[in-house]
Amino acid sequence: MTGAAAIRTGIGWDSHRLVSGPPTRALILGGVTIPYEQGLHGHSDADVLTHAVIDALLGAAGLDDIGALFPDTDAAYKDADSIALLRDVVGRVAAEGYAIVNVDTTVVMERPKLSPHRAEIRATLAAALGLGDRDVNVKASTGEGLGFVGRGEGVAALAVATLSAAA
Ligand code: MG
Repeated sequence: MTGAAAIRTGIGWDSHRLVSGPPTRALILGGVTIPYEQGLHGHSDADVLTHAVIDALLGAAGLDDIGALFPDTDAAYKDADSIALLRDVVGRVAAEGYAIVNVDTTVVMERPKLSPHRAEIRATLAAALGLGDRDVNVKASTGEGLGFVGRGEGVAALAVATLSAAA
């Protein structure tokens, strides 16, 4: 553990490109596969929301970032299950002496609608984080037609994590 603060926060941001294939890619958000005609491009499973959560946790713990831990040049992380990477990071955060208090997130996406999948995403992330569903929030926003999100070219996600020094 570094620093004296009992409470620490971290932010995470990620974006991935939406692609139609071939090859066909899945749209996976927070560990949940969402039926859609496009998927997210990336070296891993491109779970943009889980990547943002991972960076928020690493940021709060002062542990570098997702690219340093799981490089996209490493074949070991090709098509990697990002929830498995999140579980790895939860272990690293605990090993530093921190407990996760809560995680808040926003997915910025024009289509498809996130709301039918929100409860399952919260439950999936909460299980990986070792938290209750109420401690993991998943909000949805759109680009209002503006920028790469608004043009439907990609999906962005933001996350904030709060840690406390474990008793
Ligand atoms: Mg990413």
